[in-house]
Amino acid sequence: MTPEQRHRCMASIKGIDTRPEMKVRRYLHGLGFRYSLHSKRLPGKPDIVLRKYHSVIFVHGCFWHGHPGESCYRKPSTNVEFWEEKIRRNKERDAADVAALEALGWHVIIVWECEVSKKRFEETMSGVVKDLHNYLEVEHIHHIPPSVRRLSNQDSSEM
Ligand SMILES: [Zn+2]
Repeated sequence: MTPEQRHRCMASIKGIDTRPEMKVRRYLHGLGFRYSLHSKRLPGKPDIVLRKYHSVIFVHGCFWHGHPGESCYRKPSTNVEFWEEKIRRNKERDAADVAALEALGWHVIIVWECEVSKKRFEETMSGVVKDLHNYLEVEHIHHIPPSVRRLSNQDSSEM
């Protein structure tokens, strides 16, 4: 980091933005991951696009995207049908986006709002990082010519 970058980094830490998406971004950036944001050219405009890892991350709000967890989903007591219908449509769209992205060869990771709570953040993010590394490794294995793969299969019984 240059002094200028460090200065900006410190400044942004002071005015810390605690939105789930920002927490995820900051964490990945701190580990040296580089990404683009809300790529309009991709289905669903993923929040974080990690080109090198052929992966995209959506950071979903539990309510809007219908996360069924006990601790996250707060059902409004009025207009129940209206909200249920709206959330059902959001979930349908999310599923269609994931399918479209996967069809284009992207690996899709969903991070839920409730998973980035103070208690669960570290665990969630180390899982995401592991997932990214694993995916890249698997991709590389797939790109090895079949003859080489056959040889390396002999000592990959742990997979
Ligand atoms: Zn949730």
